Amino acid sequence: MEIEPNASKYPDKKERQFKISFNTWDNHQVMNCPICNCEFTHITEVSTFSRKEDEKIHLETNINLKDKKINTNVVEGHGNNPSGRRNGLILHGHCEEGCKFDIEMYQHKGNTFFNSFFKGVKEFNETK
Ligand SMILES: [Zn+2]
Repeated sequence: MEIEPNASKYPDKKERQFKISFNTWDNHQVMNCPICNCEFTHITEVSTFSRKEDEKIHLETNINLKDKKINTNVVEGHGNNPSGRRNGLILHGHCEEGCKFDIEMYQHKGNTFFNSFFKGVKEFNETK
């Protein structure tokens, strides 16, 4: 099956890809860090990408959950959209062991795909 991620976003695949796992705690699903499996994670920012199929522009919306700041940009081409053709979503976060990660979601026909990427080490004196 050929899927349609935004292949131009990670052309060299330099950023290693990781998988998300979950634990169960009191009948709730608890997301583990996609990098180190630590169960203490924090989502700090959300980016959405709104695009009709194959539209040349899309609307990128970034929501900083801590600062409660929202900004929107009309972007030509793929930009940071995880999808090469449609809508996309990125959850930006970190775990308490210090991994920064992005969890990307994008649509392909009837399926929703996930990718997780290591984005660096968090210094805990950072504000973000
Ligand atoms: Zn981690």
